[in-house]
Amino acid sequence: MSEAQADLVLTGGPVYTVDAARRWAEAVAVRGGRILAVGTARDVAEHAGPRTRVLELDGRLVLPGFQDAHLHPPSGGLYQLRCELHGTINRREYLELVRRYAAEHPGAEWILGGGWSMDSFPGGVPHRDDLDAIVPGRPIFLTSRDGHTAWVNARALELAGITRATPDPPDGRIERDAAGEPSGAVHEGAMSLVDRLVPETTQAEWEQAILLAQSHLHALGITAVQDATVEPETLAAYRALAERGGLTMRVEGNLRWTRDRGDEQIADMVEQRAQGSAGRLRVRGAKIFQDGVMENFTAAMLEPYTGKDTSGISMHEPDELARMVTLLDAEGFQVHIHAIGDRAVRESLDAIEAAGRANGRRDARHHLAHIEVIHPDDIPRFRELGVVANAQPYWAVKSGYIEELTLPFVSEETARWIYPFGSLHRAGAPLAFGSDWTVSTANPLLEIEVAVTRVSPLDRDAEPFLPEERLDLPTAIAAFTIGSAYVNHLDSETGSIEPGKLADLAVLDRNVFDPGAGPIGDARVVLTLVEGEVVYEDPALAR
Ligand SMILES: [Zn+2]
Repeated sequence: MSEAQADLVLTGGPVYTVDAARRWAEAVAVRGGRILAVGTARDVAEHAGPRTRVLELDGRLVLPGFQDAHLHPPSGGLYQLRCELHGTINRREYLELVRRYAAEHPGAEWILGGGWSMDSFPGGVPHRDDLDAIVPGRPIFLTSRDGHTAWVNARALELAGITRATPDPPDGRIERDAAGEPSGAVHEGAMSLVDRLVPETTQAEWEQAILLAQSHLHALGITAVQDATVEPETLAAYRALAERGGLTMRVEGNLRWTRDRGDEQIADMVEQRAQGSAGRLRVRGAKIFQDGVMENFTAAMLEPYTGKDTSGISMHEPDELARMVTLLDAEGFQVHIHAIGDRAVRESLDAIEAAGRANGRRDARHHLAHIEVIHPDDIPRFRELGVVANAQPYWAVKSGYIEELTLPFVSEETARWIYPFGSLHRAGAPLAFGSDWTVSTANPLLEIEVAVTRVSPLDRDAEPFLPEERLDLPTAIAAFTIGSAYVNHLDSETGSIEPGKLADLAVLDRNVFDPGAGPIGDARVVLTLVEGEVVYEDPALAR
């Protein structure tokens, strides 16, 4: 036995290190929160002593903890805290969940929550009568899965003063029945007519929401996340948790650039950043939206949408974007840009290039999130400019969204370049993966399955979508571990299993590299460690 005795040894299963050589090992020893040794079972066994917990893996796979490069934990947790409808697409089940929630929360002034899907209702729109039948007395406000519509009951409409005489706001629409009466759905800007009456979420609720999100993410093997947009309230909640040691996941927060404010907001962002680091919480990102989404033709495209009189919306003129990015870069922010259409991607790359010219290149790791359509000329630019492709692989399948809402509106040439992750990888782009939870599942194994197959786990017999853009399993795992660690500025301490790094680890119930292991997304995480501490353990493991 060597003098450095391990706290924990994991042995008897394959260890995929994701180090630079993508080496495999047989065992890992952990001491003081860091990886003490990784290697053969025999070598690592030398570090075990009387105080060491030795965990027999029985062939289970050890990976670096997953890191999600773009998601929304506080709102994800808030859904779990409230009336959570994400788990079903059945209308009757929604109503049962609402009824049960209302019964279990007799003191709640409002019934809040959401996650219902448009496909659950005729014409995509729910009706207030369903809600009035089960909870007549209290107002109900339930947002849709995509966040663009709210389902409300008569009491909520009444409190908001919405009647047949209320005009639609310029940025939204009140759904009405044949007689012109508001029927219980409010879209886009019309949501705020009701939302503004809803009691503010308290800091205690935000803290509870973050803790629920954290448990959910740890159970999926996730040890670090990039919160795509922290607001002052959620940042305060993260910070309070971090200060009292409750934040077990690592969090990289992004401050949002607000379009209705000018450059003066940068000073505020600098101040928020200065206050935003505590424990495992860091704030170094600035989030900019450069376009919208394909489904309503607001993603900024190089060509007009087929049959439409628009090529989408650039939220900022290219010169303006370049100026903003240059200012933020000069202040040391890591710029995180929402870019979905190929024009938004090009404008964002141009802006980052301009910032580099003005300020000199530094280790900024600016990144573009979502990157749904990329012109082939721009693919090599990610590597050239050192811009991280922050991809959400779960969306790269033949879904209704792609087949009905995207492909009919783009040219055949453009259709070839949707979610071109294989091309990005072959061109040497730094690749990071994220889920955009709660927009999609937060389960990295499901996301990795799609990156590798380009087929939805919900319909595994379907044809792959642009199969030439598939990634191999090592590349997909790297994007969810060391790749996301890179964009999180955590790669020197985490993201791979190497002596000296922090012991942030995930153990899977099977070796997903094994040809007989079944679909990757069917694998489950049984143990998650952050700095060697157990943050999730499947009870079956402790048997
Ligand atoms: Zn997002």
